[in-house]
Amino acid sequence: MGIITENINRCKASLPQGVELCAVSKFHPEVSLLEAYNAGQRIFGESRVQELLPKSQNLPSDIEWHFIGHLQTNKVKYIAPFISLIHSGDSVKLLKEINSCAKKEGRVIDVLLQLHVAQEETKSGFSLAELYDYMASEKWRELTNIQIRGVMGMATFTEDEALIESEFKQIRKAFDDIRQQYFQNNDKFSYCSMGMSDDYPLAIECGSNIVRVGTGIFGERIY
Ligand SMILES: *Cc1c(COP(=O)(O)O)cnc(C)c1O
Repeated sequence: MGIITENINRCKASLPQGVELCAVSKFHPEVSLLEAYNAGQRIFGESRVQELLPKSQNLPSDIEWHFIGHLQTNKVKYIAPFISLIHSGDSVKLLKEINSCAKKEGRVIDVLLQLHVAQEETKSGFSLAELYDYMASEKWRELTNIQIRGVMGMATFTEDEALIESEFKQIRKAFDDIRQQYFQNNDKFSYCSMGMSDDYPLAIECGSNIVRVGTGIFGERIY
């Protein structure tokens, strides 16, 4: 059995019922994705449009492609025909562009609202206050070609587990608050996307239900 197959099996066995696995395959070659596919994996996460496009054309058509990195508005049109979930809905401008491209494709595109709770300035996303304001504005209801499916967030890159835990809990609380306020009768608002290779068990304890694991499946990335 190949190492990727072993990693997929071990990772999946470690996930409680109801927690989905997004296999983050950025920077890894198609042959590696195919090994994961043959091990039964169907959800793959990519973070660069120019890399995702050829992979999506060359690999099996029943793969669900998730976009997880910062997405430039001028590139949305290239992935709008096929992307199944965008985790990184990090600005109102981007949400509007996804909506407009989805409309041209005759699609409704699933999106998560990315929250910025980590301490690094480089990470993108809505602050908690911005997110609550935007939801309260009700403006998102006009974007009828996107479906808001939940929230996504990343913790600070640190050894400080207490900090990571408190950030995950903030993200989960935002998920619960927004669901309660705006999606009570809509079970499509269902994803709390948190956790990567190093911190996904903790993220799950804090309420994640979709984890984004790259290195733990495919090994180190070579940039
Ligand atoms: C690269 C990336 C991951 C996966 O990171 P690993 O540490 O390799 O598991 C998860 N989420 C996002 C947003 C990423 O960019």
